Amino acid sequence: MIRSNPEHLIRDSMARFVDKEVIPQAQQIDASGEFPMELFRKVGEMGVFGIRYPRNKGGSGGNTTLYCIIHEELARGLMSLAAVSAMQCLMGTNFLFHFGTQEMHENFFLPAMKGEKIPCFCLTEPEAGSDLGAVTTLAQRTKDGFVINGMKTWVTNGPIADFYTVLCQTDPAKKLRGLNFFFVPRETPGVSVSQPFETLGTRTTRMSEVAFTNVHIPFEFMLGREGEGVSNLMSILSEIRAMTAALAIGLLRASMADAIQYAKERMAFGRPIGRYQLIQAKIANMATELEAARLLTYRATKMIDDKTPCLKEATMAKYFATEAACKAADEATRIFGAYGYSMEYTVQRYYRDSRFLLYGGGTHEVLQTNIARWAGL
Ligand SMILES: Cc1cc2nc3c(=O)[nH]c(=O)nc-3n(C[C@H](O)[C@H](O)[C@H](O)COP(=O)(O)OP(=O)(O)OC[C@H]3O[C@@H](n4cnc5c(N)ncnc54)[C@H](O)[C@@H]3O)c2cc1C
Repeated sequence: MIRSNPEHLIRDSMARFVDKEVIPQAQQIDASGEFPMELFRKVGEMGVFGIRYPRNKGGSGGNTTLYCIIHEELARGLMSLAAVSAMQCLMGTNFLFHFGTQEMHENFFLPAMKGEKIPCFCLTEPEAGSDLGAVTTLAQRTKDGFVINGMKTWVTNGPIADFYTVLCQTDPAKKLRGLNFFFVPRETPGVSVSQPFETLGTRTTRMSEVAFTNVHIPFEFMLGREGEGVSNLMSILSEIRAMTAALAIGLLRASMADAIQYAKERMAFGRPIGRYQLIQAKIANMATELEAARLLTYRATKMIDDKTPCLKEATMAKYFATEAACKAADEATRIFGAYGYSMEYTVQRYYRDSRFLLYGGGTHEVLQTNIARWAGL
């Protein structure tokens, strides 16, 4: 069959890359706990990091649907790689792209598009997670710029990043309207990074605390107009949620594929376990939820590409796809019996990595609260 549609072409080419280059080493990379720099660079060379940005500004001229297709495929291979790539394309570079100076564009954004510089996104603080109104990292105006003081935590890529997009309060009395994003290069005096956290899943993704102690930056390092930090964040929230849903779909597909293969091969009571209805029911649920997750997710991405507001649709997609992925990974470990408990097989990794999906873009309790409100409660 000839597939000329760009979505099919990009999916096919990413799927080939994942099958050939990612899946054969995924278990060993995960076990090593080392950031997969070589694979990350290869993904960069494929133009993935610029997929959301226009060609005339150093991007690859794609859209959100292509961005999500690519990251669905990467997540099918290795969630750690998909997570850092997704961050590189969106949260890590978006504010720099829209609000950075020409110099930042040349010295940070364009190298990030090639994977030569690593960004990260710093919202969460030890005492402020879901509740961004509780952010206390302060950017105080001085005569020649701002001085930042505060602590961020759970910063994906924190230990290996070259620059940070940091959410700071500039006027605590204004609460959410006082929140603004700032560009902070890693080498700025006063920036310090903790040891990487030990985590349950996505073990090769480096996460840490990042402390800002009397960090002086010039005025132009504020990214966006003062007072618009939260509305600028809201402008990419649907995309963050749709992307997380796509990662969930990738993981769900991996869990289902490995579970089906195992169910065909493993014999019990004289027949393959896949011949038993209780095993079939698990696969049937995975397959059905996969289709539903796809419909929700790619409806949301099309709406984003059409510039139709879709926070509700993207939220439902993220919520549903992630719950389905967590369930599928859990069921896959059961289908594997005792081998699902062994570090030798893939399904334990899917199970651990599925938990990664629960937090980014909003916890499920917060998403459910939003969905119930939109439903009229
Ligand atoms: C793997 C991973 C990577 C991450 N990467 C980043 C990153 O790169 N940058 C970054 O800034 N942050 C990052 N985070 C942090 C993530 O954004 C936060 O974990 C998330 O915002 C939730 O905050 P919290 O963990 O402090 O939980 P809390 O907000 O303290 O919530 C604790 C519990 O209370 C529930 N809860 C909170 N509010 C409500 C409510 N209104 N109604 C009902 N229940 C509620 C939550 O759902 C949760 O169950 C990462 C986290 C993880 C685990």
